[in-house]
Amino acid sequence: MTGLGETGDFSFLHRIQKIVVWRKGGQRAPHKPLLLLFALGRLENGKDRLVDFGSVERPLQDLLQEFGVPSNSRPQYPFWRLRHDDGIWEVPGADEIPVNSQKDPRSINDLRKLQGGFPLEVYEELKENPLLVYAAAMQILNAHFPLSLHENILTAVGLCSLETDLIAVSESGMVEVVPNLVEYVYRRVRDRGFARMIRVAYQDCCAFCDWDGQIEETVFGLEAAHVRWHSHAGPDTVENGLALCALHHKAFDKGVLGLDTDRRIIVSPYAHGESSIFCELVHALDGRPVRLPQAGRSVASEFIDWHYREVFRSSPQPLAS
Ligand SMILES: [Zn+2]
Repeated sequence: MTGLGETGDFSFLHRIQKIVVWRKGGQRAPHKPLLLLFALGRLENGKDRLVDFGSVERPLQDLLQEFGVPSNSRPQYPFWRLRHDDGIWEVPGADEIPVNSQKDPRSINDLRKLQGGFPLEVYEELKENPLLVYAAAMQILNAHFPLSLHENILTAVGLCSLETDLIAVSESGMVEVVPNLVEYVYRRVRDRGFARMIRVAYQDCCAFCDWDGQIEETVFGLEAAHVRWHSHAGPDTVENGLALCALHHKAFDKGVLGLDTDRRIIVSPYAHGESSIFCELVHALDGRPVRLPQAGRSVASEFIDWHYREVFRSSPQPLAS
């Protein structure tokens, strides 16, 4: 595997770090990050550099619906707007179609005639250096999504597990030359500190279902969740944390479960499953008060509001127009 240090070129990583995402008031803007991950997955799977908007519209929309903001999953925005960011995306022929006052295509049908993708030099650099593909994916995931969703997103875009690659990378002694990797490892260590604090506060029980599984003296299946995601300025504090079992952690980060202003559990109207165990583990929680932490420092309303607004799946998902 070729090391990044050998090429001495981090410019792609620097450029994706600067992508302009709308972060006003802590709102999530995962559109461009998800398009980049989607494009990295295509590249890794040997697909052509440029792709018709029409043929990626649906898969990109599915990705935005699953991991994006529930109320806004329009794939045309990132596909069109990412080209304004510094040399990481191009849409040849973009200047030739009519635009509206926001400088977006007047008709989505015009966009369907165009293709988009990484510029040639970026594409070739990525093709030559698989490590760069994963370093970029890691950087994007760290900046925009909680750890609990990283593997799901990688699978959805067709990239393999980062864990496997991290081992390959560390064994080849590349830790020093991949800044994202250092950040990633640092984050894992920091997360362990947060996890300990939250588990103590919740006395090793899931705040939603009271799960308290142990094997001998060791707790298992219990995790610490950030209510407002760490990637979106959520602090590592008890007021922004919940001890949750692995299932409820995933459900909380996916917006299946949330909290209302009275700190009662709410279930997304979109959650469904036929089995009795699904009803027991999900639907039966509806309206149940969340467990309070030991010192009484319950989850702060500002973080509950953020989660409700940005993550919880409460309203119908509009289709792309
Ligand atoms: Zn639970």
